[in-house]
Amino acid sequence: MIEKKYRFKRTKIIATIGPSSHSKKIIREMIMNGLNVCRINFSHSNHSDALGIISIVRELNNELGSHVAILGDLQGPKLRVGEVENGTFLNKNKLVNISYGLQASNKKNIYVNYITVREDVKKGDKILIDDGKIILKSIELNGPKIICKIIQGGELKSNKGVNFPNTKINLPPITDKDNADLLFCIKNNFEWIALSFVRSSKDIITLKKLIVEKKSNCKIIAKIEKPDAIRNINKIISNSDALMVARGDLGVEVPPQKVPVLQKKLVRAARKSAKPVIIATQLMESMTQNMIPTRAETNDAANAVFDGADALMLSGETSIGKYPVRVVKTVSKIIIDVEASDERKHFNKFLPLRKDKRYISDSICYQASEIANQVEAKAILAFTASGYNAQKISSNRPNAYICVFTYNKQLLNTLSLVWGVIGFYYNKFESTDNTIEETQSMLKSVGILKKNDFVVNIASMPIKEKGMTNMLKLEKI
Ligand code: PEP
Repeated sequence: MIEKKYRFKRTKIIATIGPSSHSKKIIREMIMNGLNVCRINFSHSNHSDALGIISIVRELNNELGSHVAILGDLQGPKLRVGEVENGTFLNKNKLVNISYGLQASNKKNIYVNYITVREDVKKGDKILIDDGKIILKSIELNGPKIICKIIQGGELKSNKGVNFPNTKINLPPITDKDNADLLFCIKNNFEWIALSFVRSSKDIITLKKLIVEKKSNCKIIAKIEKPDAIRNINKIISNSDALMVARGDLGVEVPPQKVPVLQKKLVRAARKSAKPVIIATQLMESMTQNMIPTRAETNDAANAVFDGADALMLSGETSIGKYPVRVVKTVSKIIIDVEASDERKHFNKFLPLRKDKRYISDSICYQASEIANQVEAKAILAFTASGYNAQKISSNRPNAYICVFTYNKQLLNTLSLVWGVIGFYYNKFESTDNTIEETQSMLKSVGILKKNDFVVNIASMPIKEKGMTNMLKLEKI
């Protein structure tokens, strides 16, 4: 069984599965130590790797009674240099040409996989290579080439990423590779799909259309890593199911010192709309090689929990790192300590809006959190068919456990990403009294509720109709 302290922590953990963690033994141990979502990064994993991971996760969910979700991360229009001639060094203040091409780059000509690069880049635009280690500035457009001045030099290595933070990139949001990966995710019932390099809500709407056409329930995560996405954030949030603060590319596309404040603003904006938000990249970077994190990494993970993130994501730490299980356990321990602290309990409140279609259920969810905090209830017990209630209650970050009952098995996995939600399968909705009694017994049997605990029950009445939540009942066990 998964230890109670790891099973019931509020902030969720996502781990990228790769060569270091692609085994049933390791994934089992990661789940036992608090892992909630497995990420398959299609920038590095192929479909055969992915099939192996999916079958391990599904088998373990059956064996352990866990609800670990699978997240497919689409590469999106990632721009790169291809091969580079050995020993290519770019010297500060020298000139270098950038153009579209798949041939090997050298210190005079750099070729990128960006077909309209010459048309899109304007004089004065910045071009960053290898996570911003190399900085170029476009000074002249000449035939098919962009002549650039090297502002910050360095060694140019093969296959490194290229970022164009000031350029309006004229590429489709979903590449042919993404399309093939998306179909694979849909066919294999992934719970979550993340789209990289989102620029506007149109990118999300395009992806949603493809998902709906295939009659899939996959939920969409918008990866926020471009200045355009920050500008268009409100519409992106309202069209997506969740956000990822993708700090790797974001910290290249905007000056890195802007990322901490952006992280706080993005977490707050997502929570205001009751959409889960993930903090990603370099969380425990040094644990890729070392057995313990740095103090700064420990603080960064803790601060993401203080900010109110739904989930913390590990990338290289678990996919290619030496200690995939240990890093999950380390993050779990940080989460548990922060969650137990009084410092965590100060989140802005977002009152339900009378104009909203779901004003009644939004108000019940809001008041359930308020009353649960006031009476120090152990649990808020709710029923959901779509997950909406679960996300609404979670967005208030109450102190009580959010115990959500549903007959939709895939939704149980989907909700594994959502802060504080503990999902249970339940399929009998005959009378409100019966249902509440039975679900409370389930919570007693797993050790969440005991005698004299307060519990807040919310439901829709009549319960058989499975309509919008309209009832709140406070009880002492
Ligand atoms: C990031 O840039 O922070 C990120 C999560 O994206 P990826 O790992 O796909 O580069």
